[in-house]
Order: sequence, then C-alpha cells, then structure tokens
Amino acid sequence: MSLQTDKRDFSERTTDGLGDSFMRNAVGSAQDSLKTRRLSAATALGDWEQWRTAGQQIRQHTLQNLDYYLEQLAGNIEKKGGHIYFAATKEEASSYIRDVIVQKQAKKIVKSKSMVTEEIDLNHVLIEAGCELIETDLGEYILQMDDWDPPSHIVAPALHKDRRQIQRVFAEKLGYTDDESPEKLARFARKVLRQKFLEAEVGITGCNFAVANLGAINLVTNEGNGDLTAAIPKTHIAVMGMERIVPTLAEMEVLDNLLCRSAVGQKLTSYITVMGPSAAGDTDGPEEFHLVVVDNGRSDILGSEFNEALQCIRCGACLNVCPVYRHIGGHAYGSIYPGPIGAVITPLLGGYDDFKELPFASSLCAACTDVCPVRIPLHEQLIRHRQNIVKENRTGSMERFQMKAVGRLLSSPALFGKTLRFAHPASRLMSKHGRIVRGPELIRGWIGSRDLSQPVKQQDSFRAWLDKRKGESGQ
Ligand code: SF4
Repeated sequence: MSLQTDKRDFSERTTDGLGDSFMRNAVGSAQDSLKTRRLSAATALGDWEQWRTAGQQIRQHTLQNLDYYLEQLAGNIEKKGGHIYFAATKEEASSYIRDVIVQKQAKKIVKSKSMVTEEIDLNHVLIEAGCELIETDLGEYILQMDDWDPPSHIVAPALHKDRRQIQRVFAEKLGYTDDESPEKLARFARKVLRQKFLEAEVGITGCNFAVANLGAINLVTNEGNGDLTAAIPKTHIAVMGMERIVPTLAEMEVLDNLLCRSAVGQKLTSYITVMGPSAAGDTDGPEEFHLVVVDNGRSDILGSEFNEALQCIRCGACLNVCPVYRHIGGHAYGSIYPGPIGAVITPLLGGYDDFKELPFASSLCAACTDVCPVRIPLHEQLIRHRQNIVKENRTGSMERFQMKAVGRLLSSPALFGKTLRFAHPASRLMSKHGRIVRGPELIRGWIGSRDLSQPVKQQDSFRAWLDKRKGESGQ
C-alpha cells in the first residue's frame, strides 16, 4: 500500500462511506469510547493544558533544530555499531530495506505497525522481492488476512470491522473454527504469530520517537508485538519519518505521556521500549540494527506555512472527535492518513492533483485543534489549503462561478434583501411538503446533499418583522 489507498473519486468514496451504516456505527461507538477514555486519562495528569504547551514546545524546538538532532542521532547510532540511512524518497527508503534483506538472503519477515512503512509502500516491494511478510499488530494482521484491506484509523487500523467479520476472515483464510469471542480470536492470532516471530530472519518496526542523544528508538505499543519483532529476528530494521525525533529521554517522557493518553486513554501503554543497536556483551537482541530516516516530502513542509503539521505525534485524537470522519469513515479519505491530520498532510505528501478534495472534508468546527496534544492548529491549516487550492484555480469552473455569484450576493445588503423577496415564490417550484427537493443544474448537487426547509413568505420573514418594528417605534 502506498499513500493513496483508493483512486476512485472522492464523491464515490464518501457515498460508499455514508451508505455503510455498519461502518458508521462502529466508528461512532469507537469515537465515543476513545473520547471518554482520553478525557479521564488527560484529567488524571493534572494541568493538561500545561502538558500540551510542553508538548508543543518540544516539537517546535526539535523541528527548528532538526538538522542538529538528526546528525546527533546518526553519530550515536553509528558509534554503537548500528547503521543509519537517510532516504530522500519513498523509493530510496524501500529499496534500501529490500537490499538489506536480499543481501542476507532472508525470506521471512515480521513487521509491527508503522504508518511510514505504508507510506513508502514497503509491503508491496518486499512481497515482489519474494519475501513472506507478516504484519504482527493484531489490527494490521486482520487487514492483511482480509486481502490487504486498507487501514481506516491511524491508531486502530481495523476500527471499521467487528468481531463477526474478523471471525469470517480467520475462518476463510486461516481455518479458524471457534466462535466470535474477541479473546478466542486474539488467542488464535497470537498462536499463529508466535511461530512467525520464531521463524523470522528480519524484523521491521516503526519508531514513535528516535532519541538523539542516546542513538536509540522508542516504541509505544500495547500488544508487545513490536518488542518481539525487534528482539527475536537477527536483524532489526526501524523506519521513521524524519521529524519523529526528540533530544533526550526527558522530552520522550512528556511526549509518551501525551501520546498514550490521547491515543487510547491510557496513562501509559503496556509496552514502552527504548532500543537500538545491541551493546557488546548483550546475550539477546538482534545482531544488526538499521534505522531508515524517511524524508519523502517532509523537507518541503519544514519551514513552510504548513510547518506545524510536522509536530504531529500520530495519536489519532483528532480523528476521534471529527464529525466528518464519524460519518464518512477512514476509507473515504483514500489515504493511509485519514481524518483531520490526514486532510492536512496527505495533500502535502501526495499533492493537490490527487488529494485536493480532502481539505474540504471538514466542518471547520476546530474540535481537532482543541484536542491535539501538541497544539497543531489543524482547522487553520485546512483553511490555508483551501486558499491555495482556490488560488491555483483547482476548483471547477462551475464552482468558481457559483462562489463569485454568492460572494456578490452576500457582499451587497441591497441585492441580498431583494433576492430574499423572491426566495419564497421561486422556491415553490423546487419544494414539496415544505422542503426543497429539486433545483436547477447549477445548484442541484448542493441541494441534493442538504435537508432544506422552504423559505418563509416575505410577510413572515425576520426582515419584514424588523421593518415593521422599526416603523412602529419610529426609528
Ligand atoms: S494532529 Fe494532533 S491530534 Fe491529530 S494525530 Fe497528530 S498529534 Fe494527534
């Protein structure tokens, strides 16, 4: 999978999402429970707003000094006998990883959950190279078994599936014969995966944060699969977006606190691990460690008007409060990064040609901005995208004409007043039982996606009432 998960039109994808009542229920109840858990975990930490400010400052400081910290990280990893590779593009990143694996003649690969490996299309590249690749995060494993169904959430990739669907997938693809109890399904997957861990020659993980002064990476997981992926195979390859770095363990601790509470409403997840190249004399752990640092467009974002998007710690909290995500679901974004942060970063990484609709998939209610643990002004970034898209004339000619007409109408009180006078008689042709149900071609799409009341008659309007009051009071 690469950044783009679905090439169909945005309207087709959203129509699918809106029509999938099962998915909408699943997303709605997941959002509700994650929201409540996040709130109580955040409150338990004390002054949450101060923690958010600390998180924002750490991320901003690191981004301002990114070259320094990356250099420090590289030096420390090499000093400890590890390898570090800076990949300018996704092709460079996945080719490097493939070459390491091919050189070792390794075939069996286990992998833990990592969005950046999706972004660089790693699974596809390794499978083409003849590797047997197994996703070990339970959610990702379910998606892989379901013919690589795309993820629909940054933190909970299989959020759109329920236990019955998972039971069906396991029965069809793995010969599972038991019922749909989550415990039994998880136990079954664990048994299959344990064997895969033991057989694997190379383990690939993501990296929540690299710690510059230690030359190490930090993994935050709940299932322990990340640790097994990193520790059992002889070679560990970690992949990180170039911005996911902290100066020291002190900053990592602040961000881990914000991440765990915002992502899953836990004080800390079950496993918080700091690892890197094995030290001399270590009796276990991998013999070889590689860290691949992926740029893939991030340098262009750095220092731009979208710089703050790089502060993201991929907690998924903005998805959990977004009313648009709730209704259309993750697949409608057509990107591995859905929700508000996806609508900001996907067009930056993948361009407006394929993703110009995403910044418009927002009500601009700013719930995402309010919840973001590192204070990214998401709704402002969406507006900035919209301005750029309009400036670049990427909206359709019909839409431009409509916007000009509406702009003209709304900027002239006299014209607006006159138009309102005709609104009721004109709308009679378009209405049935007091609702507007049809209209001219120019606004048919707009009407079709809204529930609109027929405008009131002129003599019952607010303006008429106000004029009458003014007349009565002699104003
Ligand atoms: S934008 Fe903020 S809330 Fe959304 S995933 Fe990133 S850090 Fe979390």
